Amino acid sequence: MNKLKLVFATNNKHKLEEVQAMLTNFEIVSLADIHCFEDIPETADTLEGNAILKANFITEKFGLDCFADDTGLEVAALNNEPGVYSARYAGENNNAEANMNKLLKNLENNPNRKAQFKTAIALNIQGKQFIFEGICEGTILTEKRGKSGFGYDPIFMPDGFNTSFAEMDMNEKGNISHRGKAIEKLVTFLNEHHW
Ligand code: IMP
Repeated sequence: MNKLKLVFATNNKHKLEEVQAMLTNFEIVSLADIHCFEDIPETADTLEGNAILKANFITEKFGLDCFADDTGLEVAALNNEPGVYSARYAGENNNAEANMNKLLKNLENNPNRKAQFKTAIALNIQGKQFIFEGICEGTILTEKRGKSGFGYDPIFMPDGFNTSFAEMDMNEKGNISHRGKAIEKLVTFLNEHHW
């Protein structure tokens, strides 16, 4: 039987392999696999809006079923910033270090360290659209801890743990993370239906 082809709108090899391993009934392909090398606009002001923009771009341009994700860190004491602007919190040309330094500075001496990572996934399949969300609640540490992961991992400690995301291995993080939870919902949904 032919496997149903689904584009995962990403160029992140790690994300791709993780999802391929969970969706063996599907042929999951990346943006590079469909020769999409354009910058897909992410101009919405919500995570869900950006996930939808990316998924729709592929479906409209390539006529393919597709899913896309977008993630942000929402810090309670900063009115849920940086949120949808997490990647460019310290400016367009800045990096994870600069983003973390800005966040630590903005929270300096603030006892309210509550924060959450949120991932939104938009799935376009057979002419319909479905949205999935994953949340991981935690706190912002006062200094960086650990070397693994990426982005804000060294300053985020998930609730119920004494380690930052950057002190966990990939599998441990994946089991409790925002993206892990959103992908789990997507996988359950896809595997429960006949396409
Ligand atoms: P993206 O939507 O997955 O590209 O994530 C947008 C930005 O959020 C990234 O550039 C990172 O700064 C941050 N981010 C996303 N996921 C994570 C994570 O799992 N840990 C730490 N930072 C993350």
